[in-house]
Amino acid sequence: MTFVLQTTDKRLTSASSATASCRAYPVARAQIRYSTTIAWVDWSAGALDVIFSDGTRAQFDLVIGADGIRSAVRKLIYPHIETAYRSFCAWRTVMECSDCDTVFRIRFSPGRVLGSFQVGPNLVYAFLLAHHAGLPSLLRDEHLERFKELASQFHATVPSLIQQQRDPAGVVFVPVQEVETPSYYRGRILLIGDAAHAFPPQLAQGAAMAIEDAVALAGLLGESGDVDQVLRSYESRRRPRVDTIRAAVRHRAISGGMEGPVTPELLKQYPPVFSDIPLKVYDDLIEDPFAGGHGAA
Ligand SMILES: Cc1cc2nc3c(=O)[nH]c(=O)nc-3n(C[C@H](O)[C@H](O)[C@H](O)COP(=O)(O)OP(=O)(O)OC[C@H]3O[C@@H](n4cnc5c(N)ncnc54)[C@H](O)[C@@H]3O)c2cc1C
Repeated sequence: MTFVLQTTDKRLTSASSATASCRAYPVARAQIRYSTTIAWVDWSAGALDVIFSDGTRAQFDLVIGADGIRSAVRKLIYPHIETAYRSFCAWRTVMECSDCDTVFRIRFSPGRVLGSFQVGPNLVYAFLLAHHAGLPSLLRDEHLERFKELASQFHATVPSLIQQQRDPAGVVFVPVQEVETPSYYRGRILLIGDAAHAFPPQLAQGAAMAIEDAVALAGLLGESGDVDQVLRSYESRRRPRVDTIRAAVRHRAISGGMEGPVTPELLKQYPPVFSDIPLKVYDDLIEDPFAGGHGAA
């Protein structure tokens, strides 16, 4: 069986799923081609006839779309499925900070969440999620001002640092969207990670799900050469797990007012999946990865 990883991203840094697959299968068995992508797949006959954007074509037993929330592979098998805007947006930045907490801090207010954690020596990552009934139409420069305005209700080192930011290019804005697919595969084309099941970041589980998908798939492919059976097993193994996490995420988003005013009816419709343990109980468990000068420049 031939495995080919197609990517337009030469760094492969965010393709966590691809990394996990490589660990399960010796890299020597995978041929990696950069700067090309799938243009079309003819899956009407038994084998998959793939046409690449560089004009080449080849046949495969299985095509795996691990190409994120705007998956082109998903468009091939589910052209009518669109991403759903979840009524809130994220503003993110990385800032210099010499005396910031080394643990993950998260601050809540209705319809708003400000989180931060250290990502390097003297570097802190901050994200702000805020309810926005409709998609805000702001120019790039205006996002910095909106970020500051939304963060102004919080008071601590990180919110103050946000107020001092001057560079609009340092702010990354993203509307939070979700993807649901009726099945993770059609024929022998499979979607994994965000391509199959993107959901909001409330429990920070998107990357974890993508990695789990890849590990589960690699394991199943290692156990059986029957691709159709592997796909059936994969679906039945992964869907309950992903659906549980999705429901937990939805409950947390709704109860936090991220999708609008919280009502008893809404809470009844989206009950808790896990007990609502405050995140701060994990503070003691998170080791400071930069203690002792590891990674210091
Ligand atoms: C605001 C926000 C905060 C988040 N915070 C967290 C968090 O704290 N923890 C967490 O676990 N998750 C978080 N997530 C979710 C997480 O980012 C995703 O779930 C995760 O990155 C999904 O991994 P993936 O490999 O499926 O997709 P991606 O990381 O999107 O990777 C897809 C890859 O495919 C490549 N690609 C795209 N199109 C093509 C193409 N046509 N051909 C070839 N290659 C292509 C891309 O370049 C990219 O490298 C967050 C998401 C958002 C929006």
